[in-house]
Amino acid sequence: MTTQTRSSEQGDRYSRQERYAPIGKEGQNRLSNSRVLIVGAGALGTGIAETLVRSGIGHITIADRDYVEWSNLQRQQLYVEQDAIQRMPKAMAAQKRLSDINSTVEVIGKVMDVRVDELEELVQSADLIMDATDNFDTRLLINDMSQKYRIPWIYGGCVGSYGITYTFLPGETPCLNCLLGEVPLGGDTCDTSGIIPQAVQMVTANQTAEAMKILSGNTDALRRKLLSFDVWRNEYISINVDGAKKADCPSCGEKAAYPYLSASNLEKTDVLCGRDTVQIRPSRHMKLDLQQTAVRLGKLDEGKVEANPFLVSFTTGPYRMVIFQDGRVLVHGTKDTAQARTLVHRYFG
Ligand SMILES: [Zn+2]
Repeated sequence: MTTQTRSSEQGDRYSRQERYAPIGKEGQNRLSNSRVLIVGAGALGTGIAETLVRSGIGHITIADRDYVEWSNLQRQQLYVEQDAIQRMPKAMAAQKRLSDINSTVEVIGKVMDVRVDELEELVQSADLIMDATDNFDTRLLINDMSQKYRIPWIYGGCVGSYGITYTFLPGETPCLNCLLGEVPLGGDTCDTSGIIPQAVQMVTANQTAEAMKILSGNTDALRRKLLSFDVWRNEYISINVDGAKKADCPSCGEKAAYPYLSASNLEKTDVLCGRDTVQIRPSRHMKLDLQQTAVRLGKLDEGKVEANPFLVSFTTGPYRMVIFQDGRVLVHGTKDTAQARTLVHRYFG
């Protein structure tokens, strides 16, 4: 094949998308000049990234703190068996696979636990933030960052056969902080519950459709409703949440202070002196249903669960984790704070 025919064939790459009238050549040009930050490279992150990379979004940054395990392969569509065998960091395995899919896209994988400082750096060059996390601590961080820098973000969550998504537009829609306690939200950790891939794919299809509307200049086509569904029970619900926007919201209101970006609200991690133990404090006030926690941990069948009215103790392998009603966790058996955080996120969301 001559170089000339190859390049003309490559010029055809986005033809089906360009022939779709609402996008067209102009929309495709906009996509190629867009920068998207994907927070998380698990089930949602890999689905989102693959679609956006195939669509020719110009620049993708994908950040994740975890590595590939065999249990990921059922739904985390960018990974292959070798990634699990080698325990490849997800961000790196994703970067390699995405670059193989489309070498014209600049793909940057970041192996990191995304917290305030990391996120503040990453958002500087982003036109849009895609939520592919599995916990509300990080989502509330993304939410405040989105408000502070006026960058839209697209929430996605799934568990079991259930999925939920909403597009947050700073200055227009309510923010996540407005919705908390007003609207039933879901999609915490998938690690401790079952999940089917179709729930993931439904969420990412809706998230990336919204992303392409924003980035191609079709904001009038945005859904502007919170979508939740259960793909097994055949339930699809679209909720108008405009009324939830609060004028005095600390994240998006008139006197916004972005509470989740301040140090006092950060998850606190401490190595306890003289003990092989790390303490992790949650970033927001919570009152845990300990009985429910104990039942959930018991169903995992991954360790020994013991409970009393004040705490639940969970022993797995060389570690013992103790969780209190206020969400505080002691991780015994390690002095490594990153390892303790990984354990706590895995078992307690
Ligand atoms: Zn708000």
